[in-house]
Amino acid sequence: MNKPAEFSPQVKLETVPVWINGKALAPSGRCGEVFNPVTGQVTKKVAFADSSLVDAAVKAAAAAFPAWRDTPVLRRARVMHKFLQLLQSEHKALARIASEEHGKTLDDAMGSVQRGIEVVEFACGIPHLLKGEYSDSVGAQVDTHTLRQPVGVCAGITPFNFPVMVPLWMFPLAIACGNTFILKPSEKVPSASIRMAELFKQAGLPDGVFNVVHGDKAAVDALLSHEGVKAISFVGSTPIARYIYETAAKAGKRVQALGGAKNHAVVLPDADLEFAADALIGAAYGSAGERCMAISAVVAVGAAGDPLVKLLEKKAKQIKLGVDMGPLITRQHRDKVASYIDIGLKEGATLLVDARKQHTPQEGFYLGTSLFDHVTPEMEIYKNEIFGPILIVLRVSSMEEAIALVNRNPHANGTAIFTGSGGAARRFENEVQVGMVGVNVPIPVPVAFYSFGGWKNSLFGDLHVHGTEAVKFYTRTKVVTTRWPHQDTPAPGFNMPSLG
Ligand code: NAD
Repeated sequence: MNKPAEFSPQVKLETVPVWINGKALAPSGRCGEVFNPVTGQVTKKVAFADSSLVDAAVKAAAAAFPAWRDTPVLRRARVMHKFLQLLQSEHKALARIASEEHGKTLDDAMGSVQRGIEVVEFACGIPHLLKGEYSDSVGAQVDTHTLRQPVGVCAGITPFNFPVMVPLWMFPLAIACGNTFILKPSEKVPSASIRMAELFKQAGLPDGVFNVVHGDKAAVDALLSHEGVKAISFVGSTPIARYIYETAAKAGKRVQALGGAKNHAVVLPDADLEFAADALIGAAYGSAGERCMAISAVVAVGAAGDPLVKLLEKKAKQIKLGVDMGPLITRQHRDKVASYIDIGLKEGATLLVDARKQHTPQEGFYLGTSLFDHVTPEMEIYKNEIFGPILIVLRVSSMEEAIALVNRNPHANGTAIFTGSGGAARRFENEVQVGMVGVNVPIPVPVAFYSFGGWKNSLFGDLHVHGTEAVKFYTRTKVVTTRWPHQDTPAPGFNMPSLG
């Protein structure tokens, strides 16, 4: 067993610690490397938790649960308010951490941190969100009401691409609901979660309510198999999401597992093509395509095709590496994404913009933009989530064909339609089988008071993250039927009672 040592400032410079029971700990044992993708250099090590450390985190969270559950909801909300203020004052610092470990530009990171902060704003309204239902006199002297109670120790496992926002989708609402929480962020971007744990403590959160462990499959499996963990939230790729869902559900846990994506944008000939092209360029290449809501497939309908592709080609060539678009997360991922350029060429797609011909910094994990036209649904570059700066265009002759194409895809996270016709947009939003839909909006990430999540292979489970669905996920409903008998109350019967 790796015995966790109390964390000292000397270690802090080089090793990202875990956070258990309100303290940073640096266990000796397995470590991962954290890179700055801009330079390609290792900047930190990250301490991996083994099963005994995960057990220590679960025990700390379980011990903190009764008192936190019983803390009046107004007091819990006050801690959230204070946490919100601290996050706002640290907005830029958190964005910088995310940018340094992920590689996205600072402006892009600022936007994503803001979207995470908005979930905390929503969580501040928890007294209202936890209100139950009440029915007076459902029978003679009988009233019925509901309670929303926290589920216990919850865990969250998050991906590399939003080091602040995706963790904020989960732990603030879980904790506001009265649960305690263990976060296992991506080992590639571990530092922001530790900073958020420090801020939450500063906001007055009792020790043990929020814990952070790092690591890979070993740490995740320890959480999945731990009896003390009652609910799992996961965001990441589809194969791991499926594994998490099946394993956690089999172990009797409540689980929501959000997976990967292949997001289509359908462009009709009546759309403002200049506007659509600008929107698609940002949605495809922003954050180097490493967004689960990135548009990766454009479906050009009829006469929209030629002029749209011309605009996309011109605009994709104008993107400046290192200014508009950062590097990819690792060298391996960069090379895998780049390999799809050869794959697409071999499959017979038309390569209009070629990342390999663009000036690319020597250092770091950069890859320029690529654009393929005349892609067909059988091609690997269509079937796989590439998760990088490669945009593909498929041509179809009608909107019906476009909707059928989107609906055949096993992923169903986000989609968008560009059109000048309200009727066409309305039909699209009704018929398309995708969880989040944009009308002339390329990345339709719902605001925090709605819920985020896809359909089909983009979500395993029933409830989406944040918004009111998250409150349902992190609470259990209890229905209480009450009778206070007095002299006129009929005696309880022997048969199945009917109260009305
Ligand atoms: P990933 O699935 O590789 O990793 C996600 C998390 O799972 C990490 O914390 C990682 O440590 C852990 N993990 C990795 N392999 C594991 C294994 N074999 N067993 C148990 N745990 C394991 O995803 P990623 O590369 O970090 O992130 C990119 C993916 O996330 C993309 O597919 C993207 O579409 C998806 N994503 C989806 C959403 C969404 O809301 N649907 C949001 C962001 C990212």
